[in-house]
Amino acid sequence: MKLKDKVCIVTGAASGIGNAIAHRYASEGGKVAIADLNVDAAEKAAADIRETFGTEAMAVAMDVTSQEQVDAGVAKVVEAWAAVDVLVSNAGIQIVNPVEEFAFSDWKKMLAIHLDGAFLTSKACLPHMYAQGSGSIIFMGSVHSKEASPLKSAYVTAKHGLLGLSRVIAKEGGKKGVRTNVICPGFVRTPLVDKQIPEQARELGIPEAEVISRVMLGQTVDGEFTTVEDIAEVALFFAAFETNALTGQSLVASHGWFME
Ligand code: NAD
Repeated sequence: MKLKDKVCIVTGAASGIGNAIAHRYASEGGKVAIADLNVDAAEKAAADIRETFGTEAMAVAMDVTSQEQVDAGVAKVVEAWAAVDVLVSNAGIQIVNPVEEFAFSDWKKMLAIHLDGAFLTSKACLPHMYAQGSGSIIFMGSVHSKEASPLKSAYVTAKHGLLGLSRVIAKEGGKKGVRTNVICPGFVRTPLVDKQIPEQARELGIPEAEVISRVMLGQTVDGEFTTVEDIAEVALFFAAFETNALTGQSLVASHGWFME
């Protein structure tokens, strides 16, 4: 059991990648808080985890762009379980449009969810991690933390920004036992990606099948999607890694779409 009794907060865990991470952490004995805007789905995910693994799991209503909600959510977890060992800042959305048509309000919304969300959840968890002298923070980046694609200005900007924030926290937290790393997935078939397929087909004027085969998977070594389970495995690796040897790093899992 790599995370026995470790308290893990995963944002955006009511769906997709975050949900798979929460399940994987519970399978290793972690106590998991499913922090999400979608409270009903978060409750369902927590109930499923309790039933499947017999571990403790709770839903936490949280809009990661609200300092008040983030602080209240983290306080609720600490009140129940008296620690925060792992934070996965994963909540995210996608909005695609060329820059000249990108609404400023959409730009601000994207930066708020991805960057303010990572900042606010880290800011709320760090005092607890520093007090206990240990902790692991994981940001959900993307291949778009390292690579650009048309139509994704806000997403690419925000995902690049996460690398910077992660490195600063790694330097500030090192002597206090806190590590921080970024996971950079390629395309993973979740609701976030399913929504993009028709949108990109429309914007690029190509069939949906071509969006998948050429735009999303054309640069991979095998034409395969990365899976939520693949990313959950990387998230477990970072969460359970015990020393500062691995901090301020980012790991790309993308079927070879992006190599470094
Ligand atoms: P998803 O749509 O399946 O899940 C996202 C979750 O985040 C949902 O449960 C949603 O309710 C929640 N959420 C959205 N806004 C929120 C907010 N303001 N506060 C709290 N929760 C909020 O998406 P996913 O594909 O699982 O994406 C998860 C993360 O992985 C995102 O950060 C995304 O950018 C990143 N990512 C996804 C892919 C991919 O191909 N799916 C690739 C690289 C990175």
